[in-house]
Amino acid sequence: MSRTAENANFNWNEPAESVYLVHLILSTPFSTLGPKNMKSAFEAAEQYFEEAASVLDLSSSMRTLLMTPEREIKVQVPIKRDNGEIATFVGYRMQHNSARGPMKGGLRYHHEVNADEVLALASLMTWKTAVVDIPYGGAKGGISVNIKEMSIDELERLTRRFVDELHDLFGPDKDIPAPDMGTNAQTMAWIMNQYEKFHGFSPACVTGKPVELYGAEGREEATGRGVGTLTLATLRKTKRSIESASIAIQGFGNVGTYTAAYLEKAGGKVVAISDVSGGLLNRDGLNISAAIDWVKDKGSLAEFPGGERISNEELLVLDVDVLIPAALGGVLTEDNAKEVRAKMIIEAANGPTTPEADAIFRKREILVLPDILANAGGVTVSYFEWVQNQQYFRWDLGRVREELEKTLTRGFDRVWATAEEKKVPLRTAAYLLAIGRVGRAEILGGI
Ligand code: NAD
Repeated sequence: MSRTAENANFNWNEPAESVYLVHLILSTPFSTLGPKNMKSAFEAAEQYFEEAASVLDLSSSMRTLLMTPEREIKVQVPIKRDNGEIATFVGYRMQHNSARGPMKGGLRYHHEVNADEVLALASLMTWKTAVVDIPYGGAKGGISVNIKEMSIDELERLTRRFVDELHDLFGPDKDIPAPDMGTNAQTMAWIMNQYEKFHGFSPACVTGKPVELYGAEGREEATGRGVGTLTLATLRKTKRSIESASIAIQGFGNVGTYTAAYLEKAGGKVVAISDVSGGLLNRDGLNISAAIDWVKDKGSLAEFPGGERISNEELLVLDVDVLIPAALGGVLTEDNAKEVRAKMIIEAANGPTTPEADAIFRKREILVLPDILANAGGVTVSYFEWVQNQQYFRWDLGRVREELEKTLTRGFDRVWATAEEKKVPLRTAAYLLAIGRVGRAEILGGI
């Protein structure tokens, strides 16, 4: 039997491996690019940057310096397939900015990966690490590949070959990859192993590794936990209680499941969830742990009982207190923004709101907690993993969670205070803080 990522029946010998395989299967690749007629991902990122740059009255030379990526890399990644044929893929690594530290960003395996999207995501990483004030710059990588058509052995060869091409540009003090859509702890273990063949023992060269191989406790839950923590903080600031909040979450993968579980435990009512197979609505609250078990067992929410079936489009416009897009980019557009009835939107996904939709939400006074803050929990715990690797010291889960909450809450409070002081939306406030920090580092360091 061939070992395909789609083939859930593959007989794994090591129980730990199957955990990573299950995550790989659940991380079904999907379109991250949104409707075809909208701005490119990079144009959208640039527009948000420009808005904040105008508030800061940033000179055009500084704007150019901050938006121009330091290095754009596109490489050929050929591998031998299991049947002996040669397959050639295209891989990218965009190193956007290193003024505040080594560049940090995920590696995405998805058939729609392209240079524009990777560059947009790399710039988001620069602002994200700056908003929560961790000492990193921003980067992102990807390989244009449909992992459903790849065996596990082929994915391993692909990953190792990608590292062969780029290892001199990676490194604990240069550029540190992490998991993103289509990649997981197993992929990171391959990256570390291949990198070490060239450079010797260096667990800090990549984060999101398996806990058994220098990974951090709490990394897998970190993004969802962070989204949950910041949802509670936003509710508190707007004088709403979690107990009376109804919540809809689009996407039930890594981020969506941990967010839902966290908010349910905190007393919230998660009334709607969805994945690529569609959504479910139950006004009395869905049973989240049962839904998570169902997806682990069956691979998707399709046929999960306990709620009325709805579409992903319907979920986005439900009458709820909190809407959390945790799947695709570009799902909230000028076409549906007028129909959105949520009181607040917490951007767990990267780039779920187009600039046109964002403008509509501002007009309609729907509060949006921007992605560069809302989903920064993952990179924050990646930072903790890197710190532990550098010190050969291991933190327990309690410490990881405590430091995560401290870092995110500090970032949130600064963004909120900036928004009030400058009378700007939270997104602009987050960019103001981030651009200020990166800009000062550029100037202080010198050109
Ligand atoms: P994942 O692959 O684990 O899960 C994605 C989920 O979205 C799955 O449930 C999938 O079925 C669902 N989905 C796919 N197509 C869909 C569609 N057309 N409509 C509705 N749902 C669909 O991915 P993830 O790691 O949870 O990432 C989700 C988002 O969060 C992405 O935008 C990612 O960039 C962002 N993000 C993730 C992390 C992280 O640490 N995982 C960190 C920061 C940001």
